[in-house]
This record gives sequence, structure tokens and C-alpha cells, in this order.
Amino acid sequence: MPHKSIDQAQDSYDVIVIGSGLGGLTVSNRLAKAGHSVLLLEHHYQPGGLATWFKRKGHTFDVSLHGFPFGMVKTCRKYWNQAIKDSIVQLKNIVFDNPQFSFKTTFDRQDFSEILRKKFKISQVVIDDFFNTVSGMNFYDDQSMTTRELFDQFFPGRSDVHRLLMEPITYANGSTLDEPAITYGIVFSNFMSKGVFTFQGGTDKLIGMMVDEVEANGVTVCMNAKVDRVVIENGRVRGVAVGERVISAPSVVSNSGITNTVYNLAGRDAFSDEFMGRADEVKVNNSSCQVYMGIKKGESFADVGDLLFTSTAPEFDSAELLDMHTGSRTFSVYYPRTRPDHPDYTVVSSMNARYDDWAPLEGEEYQKAKDEMCQRSLDALERYIPGIRSKCDWIEAATPKTFNRYTLHTKGTSFGTKFEGLQISRSIFKAVPGLFHVGSVGIIMSGWLGAINYGVIVANDVDAFLRS
Ligand SMILES: Cc1cc2nc3c(=O)[nH]c(=O)nc-3n(C[C@H](O)[C@H](O)[C@H](O)COP(=O)(O)OP(=O)(O)OC[C@H]3O[C@@H](n4cnc5c(N)ncnc54)[C@H](O)[C@@H]3O)c2cc1C
Repeated sequence: MPHKSIDQAQDSYDVIVIGSGLGGLTVSNRLAKAGHSVLLLEHHYQPGGLATWFKRKGHTFDVSLHGFPFGMVKTCRKYWNQAIKDSIVQLKNIVFDNPQFSFKTTFDRQDFSEILRKKFKISQVVIDDFFNTVSGMNFYDDQSMTTRELFDQFFPGRSDVHRLLMEPITYANGSTLDEPAITYGIVFSNFMSKGVFTFQGGTDKLIGMMVDEVEANGVTVCMNAKVDRVVIENGRVRGVAVGERVISAPSVVSNSGITNTVYNLAGRDAFSDEFMGRADEVKVNNSSCQVYMGIKKGESFADVGDLLFTSTAPEFDSAELLDMHTGSRTFSVYYPRTRPDHPDYTVVSSMNARYDDWAPLEGEEYQKAKDEMCQRSLDALERYIPGIRSKCDWIEAATPKTFNRYTLHTKGTSFGTKFEGLQISRSIFKAVPGLFHVGSVGIIMSGWLGAINYGVIVANDVDAFLRS
């Protein structure tokens, strides 16, 4: 992946994209293919944003490659290339294990229906009605019904069914039972079409392929290039400031978080009071903690599933999932088949987390809290992989502070903002002509699939703006 330094960038472009997450990469690629000159600026030394990886002691750890819906196949074929599409494979062993139920599933509509009927004794009529209702939901529907109300309507008093339907989605996007049912419905239906998929070869391979294509299409990609501000004059975008340099462009697409974009990159003064009134209402989603475990060369273990949703909590409880000492976590297990070119076993334990719980911790206290979290993850994994401690030769933790540091996202948010962020993201170019936003907002536009699809939508907006 050859990238340039900011010194090699020209003085002006048609479009400057701030951030190389999946949304930023997709916008850059689409606009370059449409014939526009594009500069992509990334503050980190590595492209990909949250779609990232790191290497330790011969292991490559994936940070956010736990699973995405089947829709990625069509999206990657249509908007990226056949080779990327061809590397998408299904994760067939999804395991649930908690005090209310334990089983293995392929996590698709047919298997889930059968499990609901046979294990949970729900009638086929109710199951079909629920699936049809959820898959019929769309973005413009009434947003007043909460997910709790939706579940109570179909499965009253069935906390076990509520947990089955909600827990994986909460891990996938941090949503709770008290958010609009639409935010649940869209993500659930996406997964329920054909199951959970992954990228064979790992995140590094995917991002490498994307950057190769972006550069082949003529995008100038600069790493270690933190944009300090979007330059706005007379209410219109003029370019960006990066350290001492100002690079001009009539349009700027920010893949930085929407809150960063409004408050730090553009600044309150760029917007009307009415717009800021709405922007001030935007709430960010929670963050995550992860524990990365590398298995010694020569060691192995039996297939324990690709994704294990495990919990010791008696029932589904959003607060328990966010607690620093949560007993609920997802293990993503990466077998040698995940990376046929560099066979390896790694396990990543993921937990939802609050930035505010971790932010005050510094120095030894922070290290101690991370070490304890590692030990809790090992204890939990021991139940599935006996002797895990002796098999591991690397263990390391990431916290909301880590995600904040590498992506600059407000409070290290893993899935951008709640639903109200979508309206701000979609109307920012009406408030400041030339300023666009792409990135995780409103759950629908989050995750690997959401970020790429949103990139396509925003590229079309920018193309229309530049041609008008
Ligand atoms: C722990 C974790 C697990 C996840 N698991 C999954 C999963 O299994 N499946 C799934 O589909 N999704 C998952 N996600 C979510 C998914 O990774 C994200 O929704 C998606 O990658 C976000 O893409 P994005 O386009 O919004 O940009 P981001 O990835 O958020 O990238 C934004 C980029 O902008 C850069 N940037 C910000 N400010 C500036 C600036 N001022 N100057 C220059 N650059 C800047 C950042 O450095 C970053 O590279 C997970 C996320 C986390 C944190």
C-alpha cells in the first residue's frame, strides 16, 4: 500500500475526503471513477478507520471483522470489484450460551424460525408475522414504536426470546430495547436474509485491495495527515487546513464523526442556530472494549464456533452489557482458514463499554483495569477452550480510550451516533454548500455494509454538486 505524505499533495483538488474509513474510501473511489480529482487525508498511519488490524508476535488481529450481512456481497461486487466480492465467505457456526439457552445456529431466517418453533415453542404464525413485520420496516416508517414494544407485541413476557433477538444486535450496533424499533428492524433483517459473513484473508487484505483500487483510479492518499479545520468562507467550502498547509477544493467530504465534523472541523459559527439546535441533540453510541488473544504456533483447539455470544447474566440487560465488569461478551474465533496465506489462531473478546467509565483511568490504574479485563476474558474462554492460558502467547486489551485515540471519534464511539445523527449528516451540505458527511450515523449507515453503502449515496450527492 504505497501512500504519500501531505507534502506531495497538490494545492487544489475537486474533492478532499477527510478520513479513510470504509465510507471515506468508498466516496473517494466513486468520485475518482467519475472523473474528479480527489485527495484522501487520514490522520492515522494506517488506512481503514475502524476497519483495522494490528500485528503482534507473528499474529494479525482484526479489530472489527466479526461479521457482516450478506448484502456485502452485492455491494462489493457493484461498488468495488469482483476480487473483493469473491473473498466474502459465510460464518456458519454462531453459538449462543447463557443461563437461558445454549445452541448453535447458522443465524438465518430458516434456522432461526426452526429454533423459535422447536426450542422456544413459538407458533409458526407468530414467527412469520414477526419476520414479515420486521423485514417490511423502512427508514421512513413511524419511529415512535420502541424495540421493547415490538417484542412485547409479538412475544409478551418472553425474556428468553427478547434476549435471543436483541443480544446479537446490541453487540452489532450498541442499540437498546428503548430505541426506535426501526433501528433494530433494519439491522436484524439485513442479517436474517442469509446469515453472517466475513472477509477471508482478514481486514489488512481487504483494505489493501481497496487502497490499491483507489490509487489506481488516481486518488492521492496521504497518511499521518490530520485535518485541523474545514476552511469555509462566505458560507461556502473553500478547502481544508492541515498544519501549516491550506489545500483548496470546492467540496469536502468528512468521514470524521458527525460530532467532530460539526464542532471541531467546521465549527458552530458555520451553521445557523436552527441547525445547531438539532446538532446539539445528537447522542453518540457507546464504545467497546476488546481483548486480543494470540495462540502459540503449533497449538490448536477444536472448533468452538466462529462467533460465541456468551453471558452469565440471568437475562438480557443493556446496563449489564455496558458495565466494566460485564459477564457478557462475544468471542470471535479466527481459525487458520480465516487467513489461508498466514494460518494462525486468534481470539478476540468484544464487550460494549462506556467511554466515561474508562476516561478517568491513567497510568498504573488504567493498566490494572486492562489486565483484570484480560483475566476475566480468559476465565470466560476457559469454559470453551480448556487450558487457554497455556495456549496463549499474546494478550492485549483495547478500551474506549484506544478507539478514541486512533479514530478521534467522540467518546470512542464504535457505531457513530444514534438515529438523530442521520438527519444532521444528510442535511449538512444544505447548511454549508460543498460540505458533506459520510460515516456511522443512525445505526443504518453503520457497520461495514452501512458505511460502504452510505459512501455510494454521498458520492452521488457530491458528483451532482460538482456538476451543478
Ligand atoms: C470493536 C468494534 C467492532 C466492530 N465490529 C463490527 C462488525 O463485526 N461488523 C460490522 O459491520 N461493523 C463492525 N464495527 C463497526 C464498523 O467497523 C464501522 O461502523 C465502520 O468501519 C465505520 O466506517 P466509517 O466509514 O464510518 O469510518 P471510520 O472507520 O469511523 O473511520 C473514520 C476515519 O476518519 C479518520 N479521521 C477522523 N478525523 C480526522 C481528521 N481530522 N483528519 C484526518 N482523518 C480523520 C479516522 O482516523 C478514521 O480513519 C465494529 C466497530 C468496533 C469499534
